[in-house]
Amino acid sequence: MTPIDFQKYTVDAPTYDEVSARYQAIHEALDAASSGTGGAEAFIAAVEEWDAYRRELGNWSSLVSIRFHQDTANEEYKKAREYCDELRPKLTDLAVTMKRRLLDCPFREQLAAKFGELIFELWTCDVASFDPVIEKDLVEESKLDSEYTELVASARFEFQGETLTLSQLGKYAEHPDREIRHAAAKLNSDWFAENQSAFDRIYHELVQLRQQMATKLQYDNFVPLGYKLMQRIDYSQNDVEQFRAQVRDEVVPLCVELRRRQAENLGLDKLYAWDEGIHDTSGNPKPAGDHDWLIERATEMFADLGSGLDAFFDKMKQQHLMDLKSREGKAGGGFCDSLPNLKMPFIFANFNGTKGDVEVFTHEMGHAFQCYCSGDQPLSDYLWPTTEACEIHSMSLEFLTWPQMELFFGDDASRFRHLHLTESILFLPYGVLVDHFQHHVYENPGASVEERNAMWRELEAIYLPWRDYGDLAHPASGRRWQRQLHIYGMPFYYIDYTLALTCALQLWVRAESDREATMLDYVKLCHRGGEAPFQQLVDSVGLKSPFQPGCLSEVVTAAKRELGLE
Ligand code: ZN
Repeated sequence: MTPIDFQKYTVDAPTYDEVSARYQAIHEALDAASSGTGGAEAFIAAVEEWDAYRRELGNWSSLVSIRFHQDTANEEYKKAREYCDELRPKLTDLAVTMKRRLLDCPFREQLAAKFGELIFELWTCDVASFDPVIEKDLVEESKLDSEYTELVASARFEFQGETLTLSQLGKYAEHPDREIRHAAAKLNSDWFAENQSAFDRIYHELVQLRQQMATKLQYDNFVPLGYKLMQRIDYSQNDVEQFRAQVRDEVVPLCVELRRRQAENLGLDKLYAWDEGIHDTSGNPKPAGDHDWLIERATEMFADLGSGLDAFFDKMKQQHLMDLKSREGKAGGGFCDSLPNLKMPFIFANFNGTKGDVEVFTHEMGHAFQCYCSGDQPLSDYLWPTTEACEIHSMSLEFLTWPQMELFFGDDASRFRHLHLTESILFLPYGVLVDHFQHHVYENPGASVEERNAMWRELEAIYLPWRDYGDLAHPASGRRWQRQLHIYGMPFYYIDYTLALTCALQLWVRAESDREATMLDYVKLCHRGGEAPFQQLVDSVGLKSPFQPGCLSEVVTAAKRELGLE
């Protein structure tokens, strides 16, 4: 693959007629193979041609999405995204029609021998979650999602003599001065309160729209459709419910203790929401330099870690496949996307000078490395696994780079590791709360905005019993969830972080005693991409499924020991 310069990289947008003609040609090749000319071999060749074309289309839509996130105020990028959003359901229709045909084709056995049985299960999910009758709804859904992204990206704050974006304001959540932390939290709350009606409306419309799509596709509500869209094939809603109960029973009490200890370390009688981001009076550890310095340290880190990560990172740098600095107009959050034509990924983040920069960076690099490793999987459906498995690659790399953290944090590295583990444990109840909330929301599509906020408050009391918003009116009104972009744009994704974390923690425990073997397993998992469903992938590298009884308590016990909480 010839290296490119991503900053200058462009791809022409396809028209519907072009795509449709290509599909027509592939269908004709499949017809010819089925009617005797060429047989299975020619049939598989046509499937492979289709797959290569899907990669091309995927490459284009990734690029459009990346550019929009890089500059949400750019009119040209916005138009390109709108065009892509309009075209996507039509392309999905063509793809689903093809999948339906392949699910019921004369060479199914030969296809299974070549690509594995899994492909049929994945395609069955795709076929069950789309019909042209929801085309308009999908376009509308994308529009609402973009509206949320643009709204969040438009936030500006005058604080401490600077103009800040929401991501940049975020660094003050870790400020050692309580007054400053509170003032930043207040600004944040006030901004969300000012835009409350928009945030309320966008989500209300999304919920109605998703219920409407579920009804059109003959589901009772959006929950089963959401699971199909996530291609969950080897576990059920019931398994997820059991897992949430385990977190509630085993992790919440530990988190109450962690929060109690945190207040004690900070010398506070009571921990308010604006205190939760900082863990001791000396402030959280911070990387000792800015973006360019971080990239230099990262180069050393990957050189030290080896396992192919070093050479891979060089390629990412050479081709400018990273956009990590915060700036005006840029979307919030961090993500990794694939550019299948280049056989390379792209990573996106919003560095703000906190330890989170290092965490987000290693996280996205974990995704990126997996995507790179699985670039040669025979079908693009296997480029990524389902997302709970994807998050293992990212979260595990956060833990597997622990020995290199001195590069970023110097003498504060052990404090960083302690904090990283503490916050990982504290994340589990929040993660399942976001999931539980969405189940309530989509099971009760007729609920009003206020009823929905009441659902959140009720669940928040179960999973985050220590939480006190004090005078922060917006989150205190039951709207803290409005800051979680996944709730708007990626329904049911959130539990995946907690499932993956349960796996990543197992790798962390193992790495503490045998680093080399653990790295080998990590790389093996990355190469497997999405060629197997979640629990099989996990099992193939000797990890326990989070749904297996006792799995969570084992990792929690190890974390307690490390954190001195036994
Ligand atoms: Zn991730």
